[in-house]
Amino acid sequence: MRQVRKPSETLPLLRPAVFLDRDGVLVEDVGLLRREEEIRLLPGVPEALALLKTAGYDLVVVSNQAVVARGHLDESGVEVLQDHIEGRLSAAGAPLLDGFYYCPHHPKADLEAYRRDCDCRKPRPGLMLRAAEELGLELSRSYLVGDRPTDLLAGQRAGCKTVWVQTGQHYAPLIQTSESLLERPSADHTCGSLLEAARWILARAPSTTDSPVMEAKR
Ligand SMILES: [Mg+2]
Ligand SMILES: [Zn+2]
Repeated sequence: MRQVRKPSETLPLLRPAVFLDRDGVLVEDVGLLRREEEIRLLPGVPEALALLKTAGYDLVVVSNQAVVARGHLDESGVEVLQDHIEGRLSAAGAPLLDGFYYCPHHPKADLEAYRRDCDCRKPRPGLMLRAAEELGLELSRSYLVGDRPTDLLAGQRAGCKTVWVQTGQHYAPLIQTSESLLERPSADHTCGSLLEAARWILARAPSTTDSPVMEAKR
């Protein structure tokens, strides 16, 4: 096959990702998840993750964990819980996740160390920007799947397409943030489950290997 574009030797190959909110998207939203026994995977999640991973998307969890700021769980506790979630996913046939990024802060945290007007608490896009930097992700070809309007806003601000799944706190009022939320979030797609979200994403972009950069590499 003839090369139309000259391959670039220096341009890094950035991969697209699907950013996933945790509570209400991967697992049932039980409020402040603290114990392993409270973990309940939502239906179709392992299959959805497998579809996305096979199509070439990195899978990155982005989660507000105010449970830390409130002093209910420390950071290692959040990571242990995540290990349990990933263990359950893997036992159910899901691929490994590529990243877990969370915000432990809250503007009115009980613990002073976490009382911060941070840039990583959704609806701010800090978690996704950090993941993109560290993992080499291309945000414009990436998606965010969330159940709250604050997830969608964060995804839009990071430059991703957004999918609103109606499986969690999608009717909940906007979470408390340090800024007034005047922007009204709107999703690129709304559906009933992560599996439907995955199918919609794949119908839009069936393969992630058709980017210009990848073409030039063939
Ligand atoms: Mg949620
Ligand atoms: Zn934060």
